[in-house]
Amino acid sequence: MSATTTPRVLVANRGEIAVRIIRAAHTLGWEAVAVYSDADAEARWVTLADEAVHIGPAPARRSYLDIDAILQAAKDSGSTYVHPGYGFLSERPEFARRVSEAGLTFVGPSAEVIESMGDKALARQTAERAGVPVVPGSGVLEDASQARAAAEELGFPVLVKAASGGGGRGIRVVASPAELDDAVGTAQAEASSAFGDGSVYLERSIVGARHIEVQVLADAEGSALHLFERDCSVQRRRQKLVEEAPAPGLSPSLREEITTAAVRLTAAVGYRGAGTVEFLVEGERFYFIEMNTRIQVEHPITEMVTGVDLVAEQLRIAAGEPVSVTQEEITLRGVAMEFRINAEDPDQDFFPSPGEITRFDPPNGPGVRVDSGFVAGGAIAPYYDSLLAKVIVHGRDRAEAMARATQALTELTVDGVTTTRGLHLALLQEPDLREGAVSTTWFEEREQSPEPSESSGT
Ligand code: ADP
Ligand code: ADP
Ligand code: MG
Repeated sequence: MSATTTPRVLVANRGEIAVRIIRAAHTLGWEAVAVYSDADAEARWVTLADEAVHIGPAPARRSYLDIDAILQAAKDSGSTYVHPGYGFLSERPEFARRVSEAGLTFVGPSAEVIESMGDKALARQTAERAGVPVVPGSGVLEDASQARAAAEELGFPVLVKAASGGGGRGIRVVASPAELDDAVGTAQAEASSAFGDGSVYLERSIVGARHIEVQVLADAEGSALHLFERDCSVQRRRQKLVEEAPAPGLSPSLREEITTAAVRLTAAVGYRGAGTVEFLVEGERFYFIEMNTRIQVEHPITEMVTGVDLVAEQLRIAAGEPVSVTQEEITLRGVAMEFRINAEDPDQDFFPSPGEITRFDPPNGPGVRVDSGFVAGGAIAPYYDSLLAKVIVHGRDRAEAMARATQALTELTVDGVTTTRGLHLALLQEPDLREGAVSTTWFEEREQSPEPSESSGT
């Protein structure tokens, strides 16, 4: 970094991840430029940034998804880096390409790498070639007879997955042959309208598996390393609710295998930046499902157990510097858990609860971290996702982490909108969760159980 020009990064996102990126930039001595829509003029990230640029009206399509508006903001603010955060444009190859074409540096891998991993069907092939086991499945389906043949070979239940799906959307379970034709047709139509790409493929449904993902970092020199794993098995509708690092009960040999496989794939594709390789784990077997070519919502739990600032590493790597730690220096310390506090009502089928946050008292104390894009007086807008805050705890072991989580969630006070806080407190009482014995279907099975536990909102 030269003394004359301070690097300037445009943060092409909103909410807690925008705040997170601004913080990382400032700790490196960089300047950060925020963008905001009409709905976010007074938001937390706008006030924390060195400069803020209005990019359009509230609907994301006309602001946070508007590539031209964001590039103009970068240009007008004299930014030289663009950090995409997660969601929005973060996994759109054309965004990375346009950023580069404008003479700016995209904080993330190349457009080619985003493209090859963004198509999940293609990513499966790439993983296989790199010697990484994938879930048994098909290629992109050409017609109904091909789907029937593939499903017959895989055995039911199968999943129809959209090649361009993400955020838990674009996946459909097919329990029996009779449902297959309809399911494939509907999935193709839905994928086409939701993702602009109607390609779908089949995967065997791995019932009762755990979702375990590996955090990786790779620099421009091509050296790739891992920061161990996270268990994100507590999910509702394939969206994560609670995450934990390291994965409870993972055997040392499986940990070694799965992290080595993730690094192998990362190196094989010429990856640059921070990324996550997602797997399903069934007993001692693991299967690749996808790679997310961006920072992930649950990255803080990895930061807590490794002490590495992942967002600062992303910025350093984008600036051409090597990763600041070696593989040998990365060790695990204790246990971290994250609880997503969404403005949703768990008692009303998780219906969104937008509105003004009239009171917001985040917890603190030993081993407690709260990442949020909001302050009291702010608002949860109906246009965007409902993540209000992430309550992250760290302890020497699982028992201490869970005790701190219970204390932190008890202290957390949010008025004005209904949240998932009470649900998390109830989950923390569940023996299965306390023992680390949960699978990706555990939460929904619990919801369907005859005596639903208390999960009152607020
Ligand atoms: P993580 O794997 O980091 O937990 P999520 O799956 O929760 O990520 O996604 C993070 C954010 O990105 C969410 O707001 C989600 O809705 C959004 N998202 C991810 N992939 C897509 C996609 N393909 N299309 C639209 N939104 C997406
Ligand atoms: P997304 O891009 O939406 O994150 P993923 O492919 O990562 O999609 O899958 C999201 C979730 O769906 C996984 O975490 C898991 O719970 C479930 N899932 C995905 N593939 C399978 C499978 N083959 N068998 C069982 N569950 C699966
Ligand atoms: Mg995923």
